[in-house]
Amino acid sequence: MPANVVVLGAGVSGLTTALLLARDSKYNVTVIAKHMPGDYNIEYASPWAGANYLPVAKPGTSSETYERGTWPELERIAEDLPEAGVHFQDTVIYRRAKDAGTATADWFAELIKDDAWFKDVVPNFRVLPKNELPEGMDGGTSFTSVCINTALYLPWLASQCLKYGAVIRRGVLSHVSDAATLHHSGKRADMIVNCTGLSSLKLGGVEDKALYPARGQIVIVRNDVNVMASVSGTDDGPDEATYIMHRAAGGGCVLGGCLQKNNWESQPDPNLAIRIMKRCVTLCPELVPKGKGIEALDIIRHGVGLRPMRNGGIRVEKDGLKGRDGESVNVVHNYGHGGYGYQTSYGASQAAQKLVEEMLQPKARL
Ligand code: FAD
Repeated sequence: MPANVVVLGAGVSGLTTALLLARDSKYNVTVIAKHMPGDYNIEYASPWAGANYLPVAKPGTSSETYERGTWPELERIAEDLPEAGVHFQDTVIYRRAKDAGTATADWFAELIKDDAWFKDVVPNFRVLPKNELPEGMDGGTSFTSVCINTALYLPWLASQCLKYGAVIRRGVLSHVSDAATLHHSGKRADMIVNCTGLSSLKLGGVEDKALYPARGQIVIVRNDVNVMASVSGTDDGPDEATYIMHRAAGGGCVLGGCLQKNNWESQPDPNLAIRIMKRCVTLCPELVPKGKGIEALDIIRHGVGLRPMRNGGIRVEKDGLKGRDGESVNVVHNYGHGGYGYQTSYGASQAAQKLVEEMLQPKARL
């Protein structure tokens, strides 16, 4: 008999975990979430991501393992499955010496190294020679990455879950253990996988105080240049950044951004939006016709998302809880993916899948 599993959350973490479990005939999967692909909400980080694969994990951490483990699957999807909305993009990362010590330079610390740990993971890694650096840049690297059109990729993940027999339903929970009563079979779930992102800060039974938001603001434009580029900092403030991502399949260009820690503001700041657009046009003048400025950007939407950051890194862990009905509940957590939820998605979900398997061994049940 397959084990009944409820995955709580339908962001990239929940849907990827649900897909890996649903592909395995040992599991009968229900996904329960407040927000689903197609929704845009400040409590739902996944639609706001660019999203690309720019590794930022410190070497030797579990996040490094997750980033390493994710590339092969994203590469396979970009190569073989155009319907997923993921395409290869050559990317450049520029470093400015004066950014050292800022929030954005810390965020980029591994990414901007000439001898980055991932140089043998991604294709075509190279250090840019001086004559390829724009004015004001002190160094740079380039490699082949991917850009994920999240407006296509999240529904694709949901469709893949359905294809493998998972059932997806709306639900809003105040306590993680309540998920045990929501399996579509009507039977009690054998396992809950908690993929609620930043909401695990307040979710009953979890209330993980190590979580905090890092606000990201973006502008999505129809101006569709075939460019993906990032800079280690800006002259406009230590928590602002400049990046451009060209999304697959008519997704437009994502212009960013910022990394504002502990800022919960859900509304776009219009002044920041102007700074973002100006910086992106300076970095990539081809975004607009020659001689034009940001007035020539054709805006699809402004966006704000909260990256689910966590002191101590991503939490992929087993947990045994007593439900509110007094029954014991098996839980595996997979949350706290910060600004790297897509680029760690398969690695972290594989680790969560392994824990589900371990926990469902008869002896290991708590
Ligand atoms: P979420 O997407 O927030 O999903 C949480 C899910 O849990 C939702 O379905 C929600 O409804 C559900 N839920 C929560 N609480 C409850 C409850 N009580 N009851 C029921 N359901 C509940 N990452 C990259 O890898 N590459 C990038 O280029 C990148 N760029 C980014 C740019 C921006 C501007 C931002 C904001 C983020 C970016 N990220 C990027 C980070 C990435 O978006 C996140 O790490 C990722 O989306 C987190 O996904 P998640 O599934 O864990 O959480």
